[in-house]
Amino acid sequence: MDILIKNGRIINAHSDFKGDVLVRNGKIAAVGQKLDSKSADKVIDASSLLVLPGAIDAHTHLEMKMGKTYSADGYESGTRAAACGGVTTVFDYTLQENGKPMLEEIADRDKLAAGKACVDYAFHGGISEVNDARLNEVYDMVKQGFPSIKAYMTYAFGLDDIALYRLLCTSADAKALITVHAESHGIVEANRAEFKKEGLTDVWYHYLSRPEIAEEEADIRAIKLAEAAGAPLYIVHLGNEAGERYLAKARAEGLPIYAETCPHYLAFTNEVYKRPDGIRFICSPPMKGIESQIALWEGVSRGVIDTIATDHCPAQSFEKDWGLKDYTLAPCGCMGIENMYPYMLNAAGKGMISYERAVEVCSANPAKLFGCDTKGAIEPGRDADIVLYDPKKEFTISVDNMHSNIDYTIYEGMKLKGYPVMTMSRGMIVYEDGVFKGEAGYGKLLRRKISSAYNY
Ligand SMILES: [Zn+2]
Repeated sequence: MDILIKNGRIINAHSDFKGDVLVRNGKIAAVGQKLDSKSADKVIDASSLLVLPGAIDAHTHLEMKMGKTYSADGYESGTRAAACGGVTTVFDYTLQENGKPMLEEIADRDKLAAGKACVDYAFHGGISEVNDARLNEVYDMVKQGFPSIKAYMTYAFGLDDIALYRLLCTSADAKALITVHAESHGIVEANRAEFKKEGLTDVWYHYLSRPEIAEEEADIRAIKLAEAAGAPLYIVHLGNEAGERYLAKARAEGLPIYAETCPHYLAFTNEVYKRPDGIRFICSPPMKGIESQIALWEGVSRGVIDTIATDHCPAQSFEKDWGLKDYTLAPCGCMGIENMYPYMLNAAGKGMISYERAVEVCSANPAKLFGCDTKGAIEPGRDADIVLYDPKKEFTISVDNMHSNIDYTIYEGMKLKGYPVMTMSRGMIVYEDGVFKGEAGYGKLLRRKISSAYNY
């Protein structure tokens, strides 16, 4: 089946031109001017549309256990929402229980995802114990196509400095990319305990327990540990100004340190925790002050921040409400999988960044950093993961037009100019004009190459 997309404005990370795209057998067969339409089974007139590579959401938590509940989107509803928001590859994070090999955790998660995922998916490994067995496994992870591993610096399953440093040393040798949740365990836990003792459990104290400096301290320590180990590092969900400045400094010195931020840190500040529905915005790290929001936008436009991902990990409103009187009882996490690409493209339409930059941070860079060489560009030979985007379409985000399994959205009422009108996953139309058209089980597990972070 050949599909010819005619006369679109084709946007990659470093190019923007009018042309045609020929899709054949799920791949992009040709990109050029006036391609012959005779062989095409279907011709799409894209003359008023942008033709973009599908986004890659490199940070989600689907069907993840969170205390007494699970994150509200499973592999089917999460990837359905992804498809409807122009995301064609979803990375899920596995956790690692003590004693269980990382590859076994991935195999178990894959049993949940296979048969349900509507777009392609990948897994980062997770590590919560560092010993010789786990460190040896890092080499197997890379060989088997899972060359990225997440470490936490806080929570009960977080790594201390010795463990994180040993992991970074091994990763440098094995050519794995360590991604790190950087918040200071000491500052956060001491604050939480103190607030609890004083009965300070309003949602605002979620922010106060994890303030800007809690992130900054861990960002700096993680960067220094990576430098000492000679390892690249990827900081997930960067949310604070000082960390962003320190990252820019490390980068200027030539260190292979990369960072991701999330749409909710760009769209909101800590003011949300003063709203009546503030409990719904509980996530870690929390949204910070306006200085951080400004710095993050600067980082996105100047190139210090490499990727946008969502940390999609929502809970239903009644579950969030468990924390109304005591924020520590609310499940932690926000939604975003369907909002990321439209939100960033809307910002591009407003001139805050270029469309090329939006494509770079949402698709090309995650493809490179996480070794997805079949994704991330409209280019012959790549998978036909394509989004057709109407830059003039008016769209107001509402729980009623989202495709997740969640009973609210933190983006309710947000007005966007521009919205995806079609998503293709390997040449199959999975979303068109507001309607999901894919099928559960179509998505394939992606095995990946070594990160571009090793090409420095
Ligand atoms: Zn996360």
